[in-house]
Amino acid sequence: MQRFRKLTLWLYQRIALILVMLLCIGTGVALSGTFELSADLVDAQALQHARVSVHTVKEAWFLYSKAVVGRLENLDTVTASPEYHQVSGGIPVPATYTIELGEQVSKAGDGLSFRLFSDYPFPNRQTSGGPKDLFEQEALDYLKLNPTSFFYQKENNKDRLLFRYAEAIQMEPSCVNCHNTWPGSPKTDWQVGDVRGIIEITQPIDAFVAQAQDGLRSIWMTLIVIGCLALTSLILVISYLQNANQILHTKVAEKTSALNRLAHLDSLTELANRRCFDQVLEQEWRRMERQQNPLALIMCDVDYFKRYNDAYGHQAGDDCLQRIAHAINTNVRRTGDLATRYGGEEFAVIMPNTNHFQAGKVAEHIQRAMLALQIEHHHSDISDQVTLSIGIASTVPQPTSHPTDLVKAADTALYEAKLKGRNQIMMKLPDPTGSQPT
Ligand code: GH3
Ligand code: MG
Ligand code: MG
Repeated sequence: MQRFRKLTLWLYQRIALILVMLLCIGTGVALSGTFELSADLVDAQALQHARVSVHTVKEAWFLYSKAVVGRLENLDTVTASPEYHQVSGGIPVPATYTIELGEQVSKAGDGLSFRLFSDYPFPNRQTSGGPKDLFEQEALDYLKLNPTSFFYQKENNKDRLLFRYAEAIQMEPSCVNCHNTWPGSPKTDWQVGDVRGIIEITQPIDAFVAQAQDGLRSIWMTLIVIGCLALTSLILVISYLQNANQILHTKVAEKTSALNRLAHLDSLTELANRRCFDQVLEQEWRRMERQQNPLALIMCDVDYFKRYNDAYGHQAGDDCLQRIAHAINTNVRRTGDLATRYGGEEFAVIMPNTNHFQAGKVAEHIQRAMLALQIEHHHSDISDQVTLSIGIASTVPQPTSHPTDLVKAADTALYEAKLKGRNQIMMKLPDPTGSQPT
């Protein structure tokens, strides 16, 4: 299952390449398919043409045999003979008639030729009447065994592609007697159905091939155009999908970071919230412990804020908290420092690599910024404007100590600031048995 998932992922990552390869393979298969088809069509067309031609010649032969030579039996003035032109009143025997018909057709000069041959030619055709090449010998051997079948092959001859086709001529009942009794007959034990000879037609098929190649060229052009269009569409679709995927990715990343921010931000003040404070304090504690550098914490609490709320209303209280948060944040400038809303009207600042002295400076800046806000508060016992009490602690974290020690120390300092009259800064050294004070 794991492997299948890995394979699917691997394929998915290479989907563009795979689709292009499949398209190319498909186009290649289609091209070679059309090539095969066109070769088959040329063969089929040539075969059909040859069969019709041979059939026509055979029909002429049998008709002549029956309707002419067959009606001579009681006529003494007309004689059928292979050498008919040397005999007065002579006409050709059917074979001679057909051979001469074939010779006439062959003379037309368009490359088409007929030939009759046999392994028992009449005496006047002893030299030319037998098989004259390998094809004719093979055709004779084959058709003697399969007289109702046919035999063909394609061959190149002086830059011409030829289609040679052969069929057997079987002995008819009307011919047997004549052939067995004629004085010059080379064989006298003929029986009906014996293969008397072979009729062969040779035709050039260059024209068929040229025609097929023309068709093939236009099919290939169409296929190539279709292939290019499909490839272009494929590339467009894939790049569109990749683009859409990229946009989706960016949107998801933006949403995720927005959600993360929301999960770590205080919605009122837009400072980091308490959850973020806990995580960052823990991280920085570990980091400072490794580096053996001081980590400082400033805790701020708004003085008499309950009275402020009661006097000016909750909404004014919220506005006041927002302004204080802004004042604190603008005074926390070093990279790595983090201003947070610790809870209610309390704020905390985490400052890595910071000792008491440096933290005190930041606290003073915060105090000054607070006073500069001049938020009036006529119900405070110590001022006519909103003030802050601040507690500071700083320590070099030790393996035996814990971040809560730092929080407790800063909280104690803040408590002391409250006790001593508010609107002031106090520092606290953590328990000397735990962390090292700075
Ligand atoms: P002290 O000087 O001792 O700190 O007195 P205090 O009144 O500030 O302290 P106390 O803890 O009694 O009251 C804190 C008040 O802060 C109570 C609550 O109404 C107010 N407060 C806490 N969170 C919010 C807030 O989000 N918005 C507003 N408007 N007020 C808040
Ligand atoms: Mg408080
Ligand atoms: Mg308070």
